[in-house]
This record gives sequence, C-alpha cells and structure tokens, in this order.
Amino acid sequence: MTATGERLRLDALIGGEPVATVETFENVDPATGETLAEVARGGREEIDQAVAAARDVFEKDWSRRSPAERANVLQRIAESIRNHQSELEEMESLDTGKPLSQARTDIEISARYFDFYARTVEALYGDTVPLSENVFVYTLREPHGVTGHIIPWNYPAQMIGRSIAPALATGNCCVLKPAEEAPLSSVRIAQLALEAGLPAGAFNVVPGLGEEAGAALASHKGVDHLSFTGSTEVGRLVLKAAAENIVPATVELGGKSPNIVFADADLEKAIPTIVRSIAQNAGQTCSAGSRLLVERGVHAEVRDEIARRFEGLTLGPGLDDPDVGPLITEKQRSRVAELVEQGRDQARLIVGGEAPANGPLARGFFFPPTLFDDVVPDTPIAQQEIFGPVIGVIPFNGEDEAAGIANATSYGLVAGVWTRDVGKAHRLVREIQAGQVFVNTYGAGGGVELPFGGRKLSGFGREKGFEGLLGFTRLKTVAVAL
Ligand code: NDP
Repeated sequence: MTATGERLRLDALIGGEPVATVETFENVDPATGETLAEVARGGREEIDQAVAAARDVFEKDWSRRSPAERANVLQRIAESIRNHQSELEEMESLDTGKPLSQARTDIEISARYFDFYARTVEALYGDTVPLSENVFVYTLREPHGVTGHIIPWNYPAQMIGRSIAPALATGNCCVLKPAEEAPLSSVRIAQLALEAGLPAGAFNVVPGLGEEAGAALASHKGVDHLSFTGSTEVGRLVLKAAAENIVPATVELGGKSPNIVFADADLEKAIPTIVRSIAQNAGQTCSAGSRLLVERGVHAEVRDEIARRFEGLTLGPGLDDPDVGPLITEKQRSRVAELVEQGRDQARLIVGGEAPANGPLARGFFFPPTLFDDVVPDTPIAQQEIFGPVIGVIPFNGEDEAAGIANATSYGLVAGVWTRDVGKAHRLVREIQAGQVFVNTYGAGGGVELPFGGRKLSGFGREKGFEGLLGFTRLKTVAVAL
C-alpha cells in the first residue's frame, strides 16, 4: 500500500509485483463514512495476468516442491503474520469496523491456519488398494492447479488462512478477489507471504468489483477450482460459472443458525455465549446464532437476561474496541434496518431497533443489538439472514418441536444445543440439519481444526480442518500390472 498525499493507494499484487489499474474505487471507513484508500479496480485483464502468473509458478516450481518444503514456507508466513500482528489487527479493524480485540483474534487465527496446514500437509497420504496379487494399485492426492478464491468482507484475514493456506499447502497456486468493502489485509498478507519466501505468482490478489473481477475469476477457463464465501445469490452465479467450465467448487453461503436452549441447560454458561454469538462482528458472521429457540419453562428468564445484556453492550468505532462496531456499509445498515422494521409487524421488539440518529455514531453505519420475542418460525424475520446484531426468540415445547423449528429454514450451517441431558443432546445432534452442531458451547474459538461448511442453501464442500486439505486436492488412482 502506498500513500499519495494523505490518501492511501492499494494496488493489485500479481506475479509478486504491485499492479496499478487505470480505474480505482474508494474503500470507506464504516465507522465514519470517510475514504480509507483508493483501490485498484481490477477486471478481466488483471485476472488474466494473475491466472497466467499462478499457472507459470504452479508448473515450474510450487507444485514440484515436497510437502516439507512447502510447509517450511507456510510456517514462515505464519511467523510473519504474527510479527506484523499490531499493524494487521489495526488495518482489519479499520477496514471492516470490527472491534480491535476481535480483529486481534482474527489475525492470530489467520496465522494458525498457516501453521495448521503446514503441519498437516506432511500427513496427507494416498492409499494402496488390495486389488489382486498381480496388480499394484495406489492413489495420489494431487493439487488442482490454479485455484480461484472469492471472499467476503466480514473476516478477510481469517478467510485467507482458511482458504489460501490449505490451497498453497497442497501445491496449488492462488488468485484471490477480496470484497470491495475490505480489501486491505488481503494485499498486505500476500505481500508478507512473498517476503516470507513464497514464490512470486503463487498468491495473487486482484481487488475489484464483484461483477467485474469476481465474475472474470469465476468464469476463467484457466482456473481449476473455485472457493466462494458470500451470499446465496452470488454463490449461484459462481456455481453456474463452475458448471460451464466443469470445475469443482466449494460454496459457503451463510445461515440462520439456531441456539436451542432447554429448560435444564446451564444458563449461566449459555447466555453469555449466545450473546457473543450474535454480537461478534455486529452479527455479520455466517455462523451467527441469529435464532434463539428457548424451552417455555425458561423462556421469560432467558429473554430478560439477554435483553439486559444487550442493553449493556457498547457501540463504537472498531479501534475503540467496543462490544459492537459498525456494519460494513450504509447499504448493509439500511438492509438490516428495513428487515427490523418489517419484523415489528411479525414479532415483539424488546430491545434496540433504531440506528443512532445523532452524535458521532450517526456518521458511521451503526446498528444496536436488537432482540425480538415471540417470533413465529415461518415469518421472514425467522427465515432471512439479516446479517446484523439481531436475534429472534422462538419459544418451544420439547425435543421434537425444537428439532422441527431448528430445521425449518432453507439454511443449514451451524446449530447450538444447550442441555445437561447427554442423551437429549445426542438425539438432537442426529436430527439437526447443519454442517456443525455445538453442544453446550458455540463456535469453539475460530475452529481452525474443525471441518466447516453447510447443507441446503448454506452451500456445500468443507473448509477448515483436515477436510480443508482434501478439498484442495484431486485423487488419481494408479494401477500397475506386476
Ligand atoms: P456478496 O455475495 O455479494 O459478496 C461476496 C463476494 O462475492 C465479494 O467478494 C463480492 O465482490 C463477490 N461478488 C459479487 N458479485 C459477484 C459476481 N457476479 N461474480 C463473482 N463474485 C461476485 O455478498 P454481499 O457483500 O453483497 O452481502 C450480501 C449478503 O450476503 C449479506 O447481507 C449476507 O446475508 C450474505 N453474506 C454472507 C457471508 C458469509 O459469510 N456467508 C459473507 C458476506 C455476505 P464485491 O465485494 O466487489 O461485491
């Protein structure tokens, strides 16, 4: 990133070199609405260059290195991210609006992904298949080639760790299109990776608009695998492009995840975690616990305690490290405000619901923690991903009703079950349609090691954990007549 006068300019990073574009766009500070940087507006030409650079280094160098050699580089990248922790956490907080302490965690998790995939790639083996005495059969796990990564604005640094680290570990070379609202840490981490010894062209970043750079990357014939995280609507477009080129794709498309609280739950443990699951990143988290199913026996108690805690949460610019920062854009805030406004006709508003109209927060894109009660499961407020700090309480009676309501949305990403009854917990785990189910916890600290992904409209494919490595390989079966 270079400074022109007072304004920062963010170039693309292609083949290890900064690349300026003729056109740029403004990156805005969500806490104030002011411009943070002029960002390169990459398009088809820059995507072409990036894919060519990735292909070149893939064929000549990176895919030919041993897992141990690649792991050494990944470990140096992790170290470099940690050495630049304070710079990166401030950048991430400023760019996304998230509280500084949450950005700090994100940077640490980003580094952990590079460490984790450095360690695990050396344990990635093929199999031998006992076909017959006369034929020796084995399998090889090979990289796809050039991988395309389209990421959202809510967790850029974590997304790089989760998606780029396993792709590189397994020998792929990457082209990343960051979200236009939060591109800063993507380019910076790619620069650090280069300085840490990653060959030029193995990790290229092309900032730009979704319908330009994003669409060009998704449809590029030189891309062998696509990873997408974002909305269901754009996920469909990416899958159509993948289908056109017959390339595999992993799509993670958000959710409407339930926390299910039974009357026998340890409420002292459950309630703070439930509040955190929606306050974190101002609710702009794919796995946010945005539906709260509460058994009738403890319904009023849980609702009142959540309301009390919501009222105590602080709102402010990310760098001040409040509990809740701004939403990412004015558009996102208007969307949340509109859905909340409609929600007033569908359920009972208990706390929040109005964006700050005066004072310093009125300049940014803030929205307060908002709690609805007596939400009816099939109403829009219980069905749509709001992507803001908004939770809806749905009362229920017993296990069967809880499972039915939990599954009654078009999403299936994450669920939390809170009970002291182990049998009940495991029965629920089997019933719930979600990629991850937590029992008496939620989120588990970033979950580097935990396979993650959805079903239904939350998408398919798994990232994180050892599964994440497998997804960035393809299997070759070899049969040798002896
Ligand atoms: P998008 O799905 O539009 O954005 C995600 C990424 O896709 C961004 O990099 C975006 O680029 C890119 N993109 C946009 N259009 C195209 C295209 N035609 N081809 C290829 N790539 C494209 O999400 P939004 O940011 O608009 O958020 C809208 C809603 O999506 C949210 O309110 C939330 O419900 C959901 N969402 C879910 C996320 C999750 O973690 N699962 C993350 C973010 C959003 P650009 O930024 O330039 O538009």
